[in-house]
Amino acid sequence: MLLKTIDQADLKGKRVIARFDFNVPLTKTEPRTITDTSRIDLALPTIRMILEKGASKLVLMSHLGRPDGQVNAKYSLAPVAEYLAEKLGIDVILTESAVDNGVKELLTLPETKVVLLENLRYNPGEEKNDLEFAEKLSQYGDIYVNDAFGAAHRKHASVYGINTFFKNRAYAGLLLKKEIESLSTLIEKPTKPFVAIIGGAKVSDKIKTIEKLMVLVDTLLIGGAMAYPFLKAKGATVGNSLCSDEDVALAKNILSQDRAGKIILPKDHIISATLEGKGEVCHSLSIPADFMGLDIGPETVKSFADHIKVARTVFWNGPMGLFESESFAKGTMSIAHVIAANTGFTVVGGGDSVSAAHQSGEADKFTHVSTGGGASLEYIEKGELPGVLALKTGL
Ligand code: AMP
Repeated sequence: MLLKTIDQADLKGKRVIARFDFNVPLTKTEPRTITDTSRIDLALPTIRMILEKGASKLVLMSHLGRPDGQVNAKYSLAPVAEYLAEKLGIDVILTESAVDNGVKELLTLPETKVVLLENLRYNPGEEKNDLEFAEKLSQYGDIYVNDAFGAAHRKHASVYGINTFFKNRAYAGLLLKKEIESLSTLIEKPTKPFVAIIGGAKVSDKIKTIEKLMVLVDTLLIGGAMAYPFLKAKGATVGNSLCSDEDVALAKNILSQDRAGKIILPKDHIISATLEGKGEVCHSLSIPADFMGLDIGPETVKSFADHIKVARTVFWNGPMGLFESESFAKGTMSIAHVIAANTGFTVVGGGDSVSAAHQSGEADKFTHVSTGGGASLEYIEKGELPGVLALKTGL
């Protein structure tokens, strides 16, 4: 079934309630300001289209952080309301809470146009997919729009349960549409060769996506701490590197399924005895006792780059090392540059790899930089997300 998008919707004179992913990073101290506005910036085309199409009211909703069902000023959407008002050049009224406390009355005032509901996760009903909470939200709009790709893998009230109340009146926003189009190209019709690069910290977090990628790709490059359980499973030593027994068992199983030899592992490493160290090259596959592998080494960068250069489709998720530290960022940055230089279809799948792509200064050279880490991995694994399916079919 096709995803209906807001460009197809008649919004004239309608009240629109729209879910976004305004879960932006904030400074740790007061006054809390937004340190990266990308998620809001990417939502602006959808917001502008809703207003241009003549919606009478626009009710915006989002979560921010993990307040765990409690009111907590640390996670207020106030900085988001302020930024939106500045960008849109109109008043954006922040409510006291997502439901009740006069929201309905506020929406009946003729001068009210754009309202941002306070953090959905202040209410325990959001994460529990409570239908009573979803129904209250649904009363604020005639039309529902979901543009929160980063939350579409969650069965939460504002992305999932709410669809119960908008049969044939629910639409995807422009960002959600773009995300789904890009990711579905990867799983449905990737131009070959297709190379995926998976890094990060834990095999168990990404095991299901790795299994799916093994079917889709020609080559699977594994770097970062993710590689050590695979190297250990093959008999190498990993010193004090991040590597759990559970992950070694999972890696062993994946390697046993790799009859076509698609998996390529690091050949060398940047190691250090402490996280504060400068790092040195370890030319051997095995890492000495008392040392940690903290980045891929220069031979590995070269080998990974050779595979990436000939790819026509590239998917990247997870850094190649402890890239937050300058001493161990070189592998990740080099891989980001090589992918950026590839003129094929290149996708970065959310999370830390997106920060790394930005850090490389070349994020605009990727075909698509996904806003959802967990959501993009789950979409690759399953080819669908609960929030997107509910939008298409209703509940
Ligand atoms: P993930 O969320 O699974 O993509 O993991 C990202 C995190 O893994 C980042 O904070 C990286 O610093 C960390 N990471 C990647 N490689 C290593 C490594 N070799 N040692 C320690 N941490 C690593």
